[in-house]
Amino acid sequence: MVIVMKAHSTAAEIGAVIARVQEMGANPHPIYGTERTVVAVVGETRYVDRDAFRSMPGVENITTISAPFKLASRESHADDTIIHVNGASIGGRDLAIMAGPCSVESREQLLETAAAVKEAGAQFLRGGAFKPRTSPYSFQGLGLKGLEILAEAREKYGLYVVTEVMTPEAVPMVAEYADILQIGARNIQNYGLLQAVGRVQRPVLLKRGMMSSIEELLMSAEYILAGGNYRVMLCERGIRTFEKYTRNTFDLNAVPVLKQLSHLPVIADPSHGTGRWDIVPAMARAAVAAGADGLIIEVHPHPAEAISDGAQSLTPARFADLMQQLKRVAEAVDRNISTLSDAQAGAETLDGRSAGVGKELPVPA
Ligand code: PEP
Ligand code: MN
Repeated sequence: MVIVMKAHSTAAEIGAVIARVQEMGANPHPIYGTERTVVAVVGETRYVDRDAFRSMPGVENITTISAPFKLASRESHADDTIIHVNGASIGGRDLAIMAGPCSVESREQLLETAAAVKEAGAQFLRGGAFKPRTSPYSFQGLGLKGLEILAEAREKYGLYVVTEVMTPEAVPMVAEYADILQIGARNIQNYGLLQAVGRVQRPVLLKRGMMSSIEELLMSAEYILAGGNYRVMLCERGIRTFEKYTRNTFDLNAVPVLKQLSHLPVIADPSHGTGRWDIVPAMARAAVAAGADGLIIEVHPHPAEAISDGAQSLTPARFADLMQQLKRVAEAVDRNISTLSDAQAGAETLDGRSAGVGKELPVPA
């Protein structure tokens, strides 16, 4: 159930509605839209008397959310959610480009990749420090050391860090280093972990499970939102089918379907979606054309030597080339990719100096 407040309802009126919902034993989630506020009522709603709210000052009407995912649903929140991550925003006109290696393997590897993806225009650096591997004998990630390396790259290049957290116990530690917490495909129904990231104030990138339906993905997002963390991004990363020529079947349908069903930003992962670097660019372009709010792409300076996911990793040169292609696709669908070179050109023009075409960009020391 959603209590729709009048366009000019006051903070006191909204506060009174929230208090009344709590008195009735349910959980109120106020959603502040551009035009009006609505209060979504979830949890134990058996003792909630809808009629009691109709006569309260500032209340316009009461509606029902038909979808099982209440807070994630467009019915509760008509506008697109824009997630602010320190200086960046995800879900607006600007596309969020997240790039970096599958795993943090060493300081040198990560800093080299960070410099390259920054130069190509990415704003977010991805890299796993805790890796969910199919085999217990495979590289499990550098752990805390990996987080420290990611933090160093963030300081050095001004990139925002996206990294996976695998257990509820590790959430506070990973949240200290990460700008965005990634929940991996294998953990999408780890409800204890979803609840744990629901309790911290860090944006979450929630990856669709390889065997999850779109509705299951939204129900998992609901766990995080219901915990009070409203900064959730949904990520399509391919599902398992009978097809053998690709690692997963990249379900591009999910992008517009999720945008219809939910107000949350949608990020596409063509690296895991395909498993093949040679078709990553085509599917990245397609995802932007389909309406994705951002991309997460694996990039490795030497893919043949990568400890994990080398076969789907782009070299820095191929990633830079892809970014140029993506700018054109973005423009065609009324989106934008702002790269470092744009920012430099703009800044220098404002400064009254010459535009920075061909200016050398930072490289690691
Ligand atoms: C990853 O991002 O490297 C990863 C392990 O992804 P997924 O959980 O989608 O398999
Ligand atoms: Mn990977």
